[in-house]
Amino acid sequence: MHTESLLQQLYDTPETDLIESIHRLRSELDGQVLILGHHYQREEVFAFADISGDSLKLSQEAAKTRVPYIIFCGVHFMAETADILTSDEQTVILPDPAAGCSMADMADSAQVEECWRELATALDPDTTVTPVTYINSAAALKAFCGEHGGIVCTSSNARRVMEWAWRQREKILFFPDRHLGENTAVAMGVPDDQMIVWDPGQPMGGNSPEDIERARLILWNGFCSVHQLFRPEHVDTMRRAHPGIRISAHPECSRAVCDKADFIGSTEAIIKDVAAAPAGQTFAIGTELNLVNRLRLEHPDKPVYFLSPMVCMCSTMFRTDPQHLYMTLKAIRDGTEVNRVAVPTDIKQWAKLALQRMLDLG
Ligand code: SF4
Repeated sequence: MHTESLLQQLYDTPETDLIESIHRLRSELDGQVLILGHHYQREEVFAFADISGDSLKLSQEAAKTRVPYIIFCGVHFMAETADILTSDEQTVILPDPAAGCSMADMADSAQVEECWRELATALDPDTTVTPVTYINSAAALKAFCGEHGGIVCTSSNARRVMEWAWRQREKILFFPDRHLGENTAVAMGVPDDQMIVWDPGQPMGGNSPEDIERARLILWNGFCSVHQLFRPEHVDTMRRAHPGIRISAHPECSRAVCDKADFIGSTEAIIKDVAAAPAGQTFAIGTELNLVNRLRLEHPDKPVYFLSPMVCMCSTMFRTDPQHLYMTLKAIRDGTEVNRVAVPTDIKQWAKLALQRMLDLG
């Protein structure tokens, strides 16, 4: 049956029947599939995860196994990272190939190559600039970093990575998330006049040669469409309504929000922070809604609020639904085509080098 018509049929199937069918297929494929569930994944899919976590942890855990099919319930760049780190015998699958990441899409290799060429009119980037890419980026950008003496970072290790990057060369080009780069630099005490923003839509990123010469940190003007929805006034509202509340923000939130937060941390750090708090501690959390809802359920003794009055949900991650998970399992069982994510060998080799430089920092 054609994919679209099968999907339509599945959307007409009662949810309980579908969930039962997924359980059945999973048992049939026991030992052959590993389902990875990112923290931001919707609950109905997350419930099937063999391993849950952030994108790096999931890829590393998959690489420790010899399971032939890795089903990544997340977004495209995460599946690429898993393909880079797992063995050639393992196949990485993204249940819905349209599950992308708006932030990762804000920098592509043509734009970054162009930026490098433009920087070369003011300085020699290969001796003065370390490129640093957030793990939330396409494999081709990780490869660019590998090839140009650069490195990958996560929201957990951005500070350690930036310290390393500045030890290599005097400047950093940080992409694609401006906020993670800026929030990390602010915490490290980097003054504002040493940071510039690179707007890929403008010649020289909108900067003069003097700006570039002066800057130690060049921040790509990208952002996460989910985390940018949190506003500093949301923090004020929460503090007024709940005296003593602890405000936690993901570093993909803007600097204005992070400046007002009590705690800034990655998803894993936020999870640990809530777990470590005494009973009765109230939280307002600025990160994706599915994770915040899960924390609320897991800690009934600690009131957990969502920082924004709006729904901030990762709509691309939301694309992976039980119907796509079922289709993926069925395709593996039937030996038919699956949505494989395979990074080309040349890109993989350089991207792996950039990831390895990060992993070597511990
Ligand atoms: S939450 Fe933001 S950065 Fe994370 S996958 Fe969604 S769009 Fe990308």
